[in-house]
Amino acid sequence: MKFSVEDNVNLSMSNTLRLPARAEYYCEAYSTEHVAEALTFVERQGLPLLVLGDASNVVLPPVLKGLTLRVRMEGIEQHGDVIKVGAGVNWHNLVMLLCEDEWSGLENLSGIPGSVGAAPIQNIGAYGVQIEDCIVSVSVFDRKDGCACVISREDCRFGYRDSIFKGEYRDRMVVTNVSLHLSKQFTPVTSYRDLQAANVQTPLEMARLVKSIRSRKLPDPANAPNVGSFFKNPILDESAYVDFRSAHPTAPDGVRTDEGVKIHAAWLIERCGLKSMRVGDAMVSEQHALVIVNTGAATQSDVDELATRVREAVSDRFNLSLTIEPTVLPL
Ligand SMILES: Cc1cc2nc3c(=O)[nH]c(=O)nc-3n(C[C@H](O)[C@H](O)[C@H](O)COP(=O)(O)OP(=O)(O)OC[C@H]3O[C@@H](n4cnc5c(N)ncnc54)[C@H](O)[C@@H]3O)c2cc1C
Repeated sequence: MKFSVEDNVNLSMSNTLRLPARAEYYCEAYSTEHVAEALTFVERQGLPLLVLGDASNVVLPPVLKGLTLRVRMEGIEQHGDVIKVGAGVNWHNLVMLLCEDEWSGLENLSGIPGSVGAAPIQNIGAYGVQIEDCIVSVSVFDRKDGCACVISREDCRFGYRDSIFKGEYRDRMVVTNVSLHLSKQFTPVTSYRDLQAANVQTPLEMARLVKSIRSRKLPDPANAPNVGSFFKNPILDESAYVDFRSAHPTAPDGVRTDEGVKIHAAWLIERCGLKSMRVGDAMVSEQHALVIVNTGAATQSDVDELATRVREAVSDRFNLSLTIEPTVLPL
């Protein structure tokens, strides 16, 4: 595949929120060499670089300035019980492929849209599992030093929907491969409420179950364009959680994590009566209060304004601050 740069590329149909967006310049990287060529291009022209996977967790402005690079590296290699995967591989397809081969570890993460390369960026998680549980290392191209290197799991500084790639290494590393440690021994993770009664014998059965639960609960981006959860669940320390529960006894139980007690942002939003609230064509989903959907011709500013109103309402009523989960790219 030869590296090439196009100009004025319409990305409106290739982001899951279906926001109108055009890239000033656009390229796809099928290898580390392509990433290096993209960097040379932006350096020569003094342009900014935006790295995208499948654009399922970004809120795009109408014009993407500079060069938009879509990561497309393919390839799945097995080295014992470590699987090294190209950043451009589709996440859900990878999970199903590995589960069919009886590898266990990723089954609870089936049905999450997006690419493998983006998965460590926000430490994707669902149904009691986060990708950090399986990551050995992340291979990257370092834009600052102009070379390829490998970052160990410890150095990724994973947290709840967070990693070093959203902090210190923001806009610096292009993920090229992810190495995952899996097992042929199936130990089902059924801590999550919906899975407690699960009667599954294999990773594949669990992956199918999770996918079917997700399809029932979450709006499908194909019919209701969205980026999944728009807000993170707030995390409270134990004493703040006790106060919260005594003030709001009907709130669902929080989930205890290493970082504190996670409370349900969807419940907070619902209690504020915000389901179906709209700004332009951006709307808080009727199906799931954590999701903002594009009902037609929403723009980034509609989505932005709606998110601000949700955050203000939750702050006024509960004195809690909601954090936005997807990457909102500047206008
Ligand atoms: C219906 C729906 C359900 C979802 N459910 C979940 C869920 O259960 N759990 C969850 O955690 N997430 C969920 N998400 C969010 C999303 O699927 C994940 O965050 C996913 O990992 C994003 O992948 P992507 O390739 O689309 O990334 P993009 O949206 O393209 O990019 C996301 C961010 O990562 C950066 N990035 C992408 N690829 C690279 C790379 N190779 N190198 C460096 N930076 C990169 C981008 O610059 C951007 O900041 C959901 C989204 C949708 C639409």
